[in-house]
Amino acid sequence: MDKEILLGDEAVALGAVHAGLTAGYSYPGTPASEIMEYLIKVGQKTKAFIASWSVNEKTAFEEALGVSFAGKRALVSMKHVGLNVAADPFMSASLTGANGGFLVVVADDPSMHSSQNEQDSRFYAQFAQIFCYEPADHQEAYDMTREAFDLSEKMNIPVMIRMVTRLSHSRAGVETRDPHPPNELHYGARQCWTLLPVNARVQFKKVLDRQPELVKLAEASRFNKLEINPDDKSLGVIASGIAYNYVLENFKNAAKKPSILKVSTYPLPEELVKELIARVETVLVAEEGYPLIERSLKGLFGLPGKRLIGKLSGHLPLAGELSPETVRQALALKPLERQTLGDFKLTGRPPQLCVGCPHADTFKALNKALEGSGKPGVFSDIGCYTLGYFPPHNAINTCVCMGASVGMAKGAAEAGVHPSVAVIGDSTFGHSGITPLLSAAAFNTNMVLIILDNCTVAMTGGQPSFSTGARLLKIIEGVGVPKEHIRVITPLPKFHEQNVQILREEIEHPGISVIVAVRECLEEARKKSKRA
Ligand code: SF4
Repeated sequence: MDKEILLGDEAVALGAVHAGLTAGYSYPGTPASEIMEYLIKVGQKTKAFIASWSVNEKTAFEEALGVSFAGKRALVSMKHVGLNVAADPFMSASLTGANGGFLVVVADDPSMHSSQNEQDSRFYAQFAQIFCYEPADHQEAYDMTREAFDLSEKMNIPVMIRMVTRLSHSRAGVETRDPHPPNELHYGARQCWTLLPVNARVQFKKVLDRQPELVKLAEASRFNKLEINPDDKSLGVIASGIAYNYVLENFKNAAKKPSILKVSTYPLPEELVKELIARVETVLVAEEGYPLIERSLKGLFGLPGKRLIGKLSGHLPLAGELSPETVRQALALKPLERQTLGDFKLTGRPPQLCVGCPHADTFKALNKALEGSGKPGVFSDIGCYTLGYFPPHNAINTCVCMGASVGMAKGAAEAGVHPSVAVIGDSTFGHSGITPLLSAAAFNTNMVLIILDNCTVAMTGGQPSFSTGARLLKIIEGVGVPKEHIRVITPLPKFHEQNVQILREEIEHPGISVIVAVRECLEEARKKSKRA
């Protein structure tokens, strides 16, 4: 048995490697990126498995599903909003089932450290009616990943591991075990993989029928633990995932703890939940994300004869992350003494583009080109360029989800907004901007799409882009944008006037135009020159 210091994401990745992984796929997104970064590093060194970035999460999911159908073990990882993109195959994979072990790792970002919304992926697992593990610490992230592959093969289902930012991005020691060898190729077409209605109906029935078995598995799971304090009936705590640690932290030096049920799997271990509830008068539910467990217990009418507290009762915050302090308050414990910094003040560091970033030059030219044009709509996408919202740029009006800028600019143009401009990065365009451009080109919509080609996925650490350079230009032409309205500019101060002129010409063109602003991300250029 070895011990390694690992990020939570790395513990999942190493667990997958040791479980006999054949292939892993992902699209970059905080806080999940480090899973694939780690797999790529180890995969390149050992050549024992495939690990690669995909064009988007849906593609990644389908690639992994193909590996599973071939009888081999596969992992797909993504951030929470990535599962929205992959939701279509995710929901159907619940019906097709898995062949080789198939793991869906989703990292949620409560408090939105690096995301446009808060989501709780446990609901997706519940929605698809599959099994889900929620690790409380790094060791569990490793152990659960290994076990999840076995369970996936035993039950022929995809299995989810739900991570959260604090676990994904913190480090701790993890004891590892001997690796499992990869599966042999074991492919043979099955009726259940072809979801025609005649087969899908049969499969959906199986999804429903297997639920009691999943509850039994949850009941027997070594990761769900019930500790009863027979001397204290006043309070019982149900805590899941990282919130379990926050509860324990508050009882670190205490002579006695309340009864605690640690929940680590979904569906819920119903008998354990019932047992805890039967033993106490008040039940506190501490869970990171939405009040999934609490809502399940509360139902429409609450828990007869019991007091149920948590997020819905206002004892814990509904929005944002939990912390040891917020959990302490809910436990009605005396606040800990605080150390203060006196008059010392930290200087605020508002997010901003790097000094000299090519996007800043593009925004400067765009703002100039739009001067005097009434109320232009500038629909942005998700990337470093979203920081164009802040001063001094004040250049964009929206940021909704990956690829949304193009379709929104089309819709706004059709509603009468002029100029209607979309701004998207090269990788985000590949992720989900191509199909809306296909639509805008087909209708020759009066809009301008600006693709900021900085040759990388800059915001998440410089992963490779699938739609950059010459390939990007071919895609734009291929979806039907007239060649004369595909313009390439270089966002540098010395070309400012020229760029403004090109932008004005295309804004005036009464149809679809695409302007590609090509200049490498400075961070990537720096990294390359260091490596050289
Ligand atoms: S990382 Fe690159 S793209 Fe992002 S702000 Fe810095 S220079 Fe610009």
